[in-house]
Amino acid sequence: MSDVADYPWFGSRWERVMEQRQHGRLPHALLLSGPAGIGKAEFAEALGNLLLCHNPKGNKPCDHCHSCELRIAGHHPDRFQLRPEAQGKPIKVDQVRELIDRLHSTAQQGGYRIVTLEPAESLNTSSANALLKILEEPGEDTLLILISHQPGQLMPTIRSRCQRIDFAIPSPDEAAQWLTQSLELEPAKASQLLGLAHGAPLRARDLYQSDAMDQRKLLMTGLADLLRGRTSASELATKLGKADLLNCLDWLASLLNDVVRMQMTGSDEPRVNADMRRMLEAVAKQTSRVRIFSLADRIQEERVSLMLRQNPNRQLLLETLLLQWSALVR
Ligand SMILES: [Zn+2]
Repeated sequence: MSDVADYPWFGSRWERVMEQRQHGRLPHALLLSGPAGIGKAEFAEALGNLLLCHNPKGNKPCDHCHSCELRIAGHHPDRFQLRPEAQGKPIKVDQVRELIDRLHSTAQQGGYRIVTLEPAESLNTSSANALLKILEEPGEDTLLILISHQPGQLMPTIRSRCQRIDFAIPSPDEAAQWLTQSLELEPAKASQLLGLAHGAPLRARDLYQSDAMDQRKLLMTGLADLLRGRTSASELATKLGKADLLNCLDWLASLLNDVVRMQMTGSDEPRVNADMRRMLEAVAKQTSRVRIFSLADRIQEERVSLMLRQNPNRQLLLETLLLQWSALVR
């Protein structure tokens, strides 16, 4: 899935880079920025595939030359990936130094060298400073592709050395059409997935193709049971033992958004969580804005600290939020 034509919302971004390539004017470093889940990594992959190829057909790799064979086999010596060793961790200065060593010590296969770094906001001060050295002198035919979901967090000296390509969330219609077609979904299902993914089509696709929606269902059923007194917060927290915490926080926040919207507009149709209409209707009728915002704030705080902490106490975190959820209607 790295054919840019698969993602119509890229618009003319690809053509502009192709034009630079044809005129031999590609920059040393690109910064692909925009929200997560809209295809920046796929764009980077497609560009890397093309530049590594020795015999491209127009703007596509041939898939047959020695270089393409190495790439397809998954171990091209001129392709480098820099990522945090674990989610939420920084990209360490040692990782950047190792990359620099490898760039200096290995011979190129006669084409480009591609370094992809994702997410660039995971660079801390020392690794960013180390990276500046390659950004200043990347060597011939080397392209660094930085991918950032939050470019505002990057050091200005990093940003200013890259040519920036900004990506945006496609229009709801375009995203829904794409998702409906690529997954052969009912429009209502596609629109719910997009709502849960904040409009990002690839994130919506990942939600559908992973077991995330099963986990969501577990949470939703549990939340309804909790309000009816059929389960306890600690029981439900245990049940959610394997669920992704950030997803759970996101889904809770999405429910609260729906409740507020229903209260404000007097509508009985949740915008995103249509499958939980009855539960949300009841909550909207019985709870106060103060309780909703207090829980929403709490969720946001937990989200921020989850990004910073390595080993949260899941059970305690979930239990606290679930208790507060059940207190919405009391
Ligand atoms: Zn090739």
